[in-house]
Amino acid sequence: MELTVTKNATCTFCGCVCDDIELHSDGVRITHTKAACVLGTAWFKNHTVEKLFPDALIDGKPATVDEAVHFAAELLHAADMPLLYGLSNITCEATREAASLAELIGGVIDSHTSL
Ligand code: SF4
Repeated sequence: MELTVTKNATCTFCGCVCDDIELHSDGVRITHTKAACVLGTAWFKNHTVEKLFPDALIDGKPATVDEAVHFAAELLHAADMPLLYGLSNITCEATREAASLAELIGGVIDSHTSL
């Protein structure tokens, strides 16, 4: 397989948007990342365009998005202090909605960058 080197690639994983990443690809997968942090490296190496998972999971089992939203709403409604966690790789609009939801349900919010 032929090695492809892409310089100045942009990582959109956490929101810092580092744009000086060097990627090496064997034509199928990214095999090496230079200048990416551990989160960016994991993102580049493990996320593909292939659809590997169903749209949603409930207790590890495939579910529709509507079923997952309903299930999540029940969990959030029953929780004393829900944590809305993650928010990587999503749009500003989705982050705004998550912050509004946290306010609405008396929860707290955090991103994966606290790792
Ligand atoms: S995950 Fe790491 S490499 Fe990617 S944008 Fe954030 S800090 Fe930069």
